[in-house]
Amino acid sequence: MCIDVHCHIDQLSVEEQTSELKKYRVVGTSAHYQSGETLLRLQKQYPETVKVCLGIHPEYPDFFHEYGLVEKQIRENRDIIAGIGEIGLPYFNLVNMNTEERSKMQKKAAELFEKFVRLAAELHLPVNLHCVGDTVPQGIDVLKRYGIKKALFHWFEGDEKNIKQIKEAGWNISVSPDLVGNAEYRTFIKTMAADIREIFTLESDGPWEYEGKRGLPSITQRTAPVLAEILHMTKQEIIAIANTNAEKLFG
Ligand SMILES: [Zn+2]
Repeated sequence: MCIDVHCHIDQLSVEEQTSELKKYRVVGTSAHYQSGETLLRLQKQYPETVKVCLGIHPEYPDFFHEYGLVEKQIRENRDIIAGIGEIGLPYFNLVNMNTEERSKMQKKAAELFEKFVRLAAELHLPVNLHCVGDTVPQGIDVLKRYGIKKALFHWFEGDEKNIKQIKEAGWNISVSPDLVGNAEYRTFIKTMAADIREIFTLESDGPWEYEGKRGLPSITQRTAPVLAEILHMTKQEIIAIANTNAEKLFG
């Protein structure tokens, strides 16, 4: 079974948590302080399957002021967490903003991101990243500046130059279950095939929906056979590589 390296398990229903977390290994990513508290509780409840990353989601500006609180949460739980995340740069949030609002938000978010990356470097923790669209190069620059060794670019959709830099730096990407039902994303992954074959992991980004179905850790299993076809590997090989990378990243 494959490990889900990026899921908002605190946003799942109790029924979903019970059925999924008993069975599937998952890295939970937090969006803000309270979300992180729930994840820490779930890790206690399901110690065999749940690992936790703590952070503030870059598309949730209402929680940016919680940095001090989340930094304390990370430091206090340093030895039991798997990494810092979800952190990164806003992209979707900027779509409906005017130029002035956008540059203000970008500046605020970039400062927050840098604080988290500095903390990750100091505490030697991996980062679980939201760097999508055209924010990938900026994300790469910040990680390089702080000498970050372990990083996951979740739902990677950057370009060929980006993927080569990620590979060279020894970082990883995760492939989304969108691979099953989204032809455009499948074509994108095909064009990246040569560069991702050693560095991919699998994620659900749950509870994000795929073809009307809630993304749960178990949905990650559906990605494996499709990726196997694209990379000319067996499903078993895909799971083995994805899990080795997931364990290398998050333990
Ligand atoms: Zn996410």
